[in-house]
Amino acid sequence: MIFFREVDKHYGDFQVLKGINLQVGQGEVVVVVGPSGSGKSTLLRCINRLETITSGELVVHDVKVNDRKADINKLRRDIGMVFQQFNLYPHKKVIDNITLAPMKVLGLSKKEAEETAMYYLEKVGIQDKAYAYPSKLSGGQQQRVAIARGLAMKPKIMLFDEPTSALDPEMVGEVLDVMKTLAREGMTMVVVTHEMGFAREVADRVVFMDQGQIVEEATPAEFFASPREERARAFLSRLI
Ligand code: ADP
Ligand code: MG
Repeated sequence: MIFFREVDKHYGDFQVLKGINLQVGQGEVVVVVGPSGSGKSTLLRCINRLETITSGELVVHDVKVNDRKADINKLRRDIGMVFQQFNLYPHKKVIDNITLAPMKVLGLSKKEAEETAMYYLEKVGIQDKAYAYPSKLSGGQQQRVAIARGLAMKPKIMLFDEPTSALDPEMVGEVLDVMKTLAREGMTMVVVTHEMGFAREVADRVVFMDQGQIVEEATPAEFFASPREERARAFLSRLI
């Protein structure tokens, strides 16, 4: 589903991604960890071309992402993204936040879009908040709405960039639970997170980044028991 080969990215003189090689198969869950500034968000943002790569090859769901002829709208329809900040429209009710893109982009009728929205709100456990405004919801509930909004587009891939980092600790679990369910149901996911419990439990593979490079890639069992690289060991020891 996602294929990086020798991908570099520069911001001006600064090289933020260095020779990235990574493959994510259908239904796989890859967790990306690493220190702040190591390029994790940039890596994710290249996948749906929120950022463009400088060189190398990046293919997502058979689309050459940086080909001038690539259908970027189709690419983005196939990829849902959830950010640290939930980015809900504050002046729209929860349900209208969710129906907006399916109506506009997929051409669903209002009725169809609302049925879809209710289905996914139920899935994330907050159908009772459908007609509330986002400001009336807790952070954890808002993030679950953001996930439902992504799912309502029926994406093939979901990207998560530190989805629980802005939440109060007591709300982290409810969001991770929704993500675990998605993973179990076979969604292809790339997740940047500092939640090592989630990585351990859910990831098929853990990718450790430092200074724009993938330093280590391993199963969670291998990675947490005995990281091969000194930088990964140092990173893990700082978390405890
Ligand atoms: P992470 O998500 O791992 O914290 P990022 O991908 O956000 O890392 O950033 C990696 C590096 O690239 C950081 O040093 C950051 O300052 C730099 N960077 C990120 N976005 C830009 C930008 N738009 N222009 C210049 N530098 C950037
Ligand atoms: Mg980041």
